[in-house]
Amino acid sequence: MYTAAEEMLRDVKKLLKENHPNANLETVERAYEFAKEAHAGQFRTSGGPHIDHAMGTGKLLASWRMPDHIVVAGILHDITEDTPYTLKDLETRFGRDVADIVEGETKISALKYRGRERYAENLRKMFLAIAQDVRVVIVKCADRIDNLKTLNFFPENKQKRIAFETMEIYAPIASRLGMGLIRGELEDLSFKYIYPEEYEWALGLLVERVPKKEEYLDHLKGIIADDLKKNQVNPISIHGRVKHLYSLYKKLLKRDRDIEKIYDLVALRLIVPAVQDCYTVLGVIHQRWTPLKGRIKDYIAQPKPNGYQSLHTTVFCEDGEIVEFQIRTQEMHEEAEFGIAAHWFYAERGKTSENAQKINHHLKWLKELVEIQKNIQDHTNFLKALESLKIDFFRDRIFVFTPKGDVIDLPEGATPIDYAYAIHTEVGNHCSGATINEQAVSLKTTLQSGDVVEITTDKNRKGPAADWLELVKTAHARSKIKENLKKTRLAGWARIRDLARKH
Ligand code: MN
Repeated sequence: MYTAAEEMLRDVKKLLKENHPNANLETVERAYEFAKEAHAGQFRTSGGPHIDHAMGTGKLLASWRMPDHIVVAGILHDITEDTPYTLKDLETRFGRDVADIVEGETKISALKYRGRERYAENLRKMFLAIAQDVRVVIVKCADRIDNLKTLNFFPENKQKRIAFETMEIYAPIASRLGMGLIRGELEDLSFKYIYPEEYEWALGLLVERVPKKEEYLDHLKGIIADDLKKNQVNPISIHGRVKHLYSLYKKLLKRDRDIEKIYDLVALRLIVPAVQDCYTVLGVIHQRWTPLKGRIKDYIAQPKPNGYQSLHTTVFCEDGEIVEFQIRTQEMHEEAEFGIAAHWFYAERGKTSENAQKINHHLKWLKELVEIQKNIQDHTNFLKALESLKIDFFRDRIFVFTPKGDVIDLPEGATPIDYAYAIHTEVGNHCSGATINEQAVSLKTTLQSGDVVEITTDKNRKGPAADWLELVKTAHARSKIKENLKKTRLAGWARIRDLARKH
């Protein structure tokens, strides 16, 4: 009898061997043993042992064809947070790369979405700035998906928070990194908790419609395969793909909630060897069936902003059926499903230069994201800093929110007093108290990335206290405090002088 975790270990090794013939399976086994020992006695909210979560995360990564070191980092991602072992321990045992990814994991897990619209875009940026490394984002997505699968064991308020955070932060990031498959999973798993009734409704439609449609597509497959043969195209695969549930739901909202107006509930996907074949296939389909007006889309010539490429067409078939076809090469297909995550798979297959261009495309987005700040008046250095996206810049920095959702960038160890002076000198000078995430705290408290900070001021306050100089980390706050102390001192002397003159 194998435990669930042992079975997952077996799956992980199998997947790694398939996708990366040179993968180091011994290290994977070592990571499993180490995590099992380190997390011994720890349980998930669902009641299962924690090692199931570690292995679940690793298995997702392996199924996305990540290489061994990323899978290992996935298995070890909770070690520094939940066990006495340190990053140094991980580095000695599993190397610098793995330790770096786990460090990133731990840093971003401090970020929490607190449900205010205005934070979302900033939080996405922060997430990326802190992650610093796309591998960290991918491991975090796997961690999140594995957690979402047991979300039903959580109390309702926590379910909602995690689901919203996934929908507002994780899914858009996955989408912009071109990771369509990962985005779909993140959205479908959180949809259920955000709009339970709508979820049931959409799921009902899917269950009712898909089997019939799939049957019909099976019949079309035969026809199209014959036509392709006559035209000397050898498809790599022809298969039906069912629309992700949340994306079906969003489309239903745009189409008067009418399922009859959704033509791509199940689409027929044709994967062919070369770009030229894509256009040949499109022609073949249009010769047999009449295309619907305005529904032929050439995303090969004009890729979607996230890099998605395919030809789409919707046609009238016999029996009044309307069917969407999606035509693409194998590489476009990989790219659509895995986006930036496809890189490591290709890298080991010697297609690096071709792929480097695509990676650049996605990384460019990280920078563009930064410029998209239309609705938010942000007067901090945050955006400028992100634009250059220099990795080292973010070392030793934290990012906190104002109650309105603006981001303030501070050094590690900064206190509410640094924050108050970063907002405005007068706010600093009259600062009388602070709340972090709506909890009153002492002015000595160290701020953490993702905190929402609010300062209470007292108009009657004369100015900063001298001992604040001990509490601040920023040169800005220090100089403002000194300036003010000097001013009050001078004012005090002036008053004494005036009094002396009068008498
Ligand atoms: Mn975790």
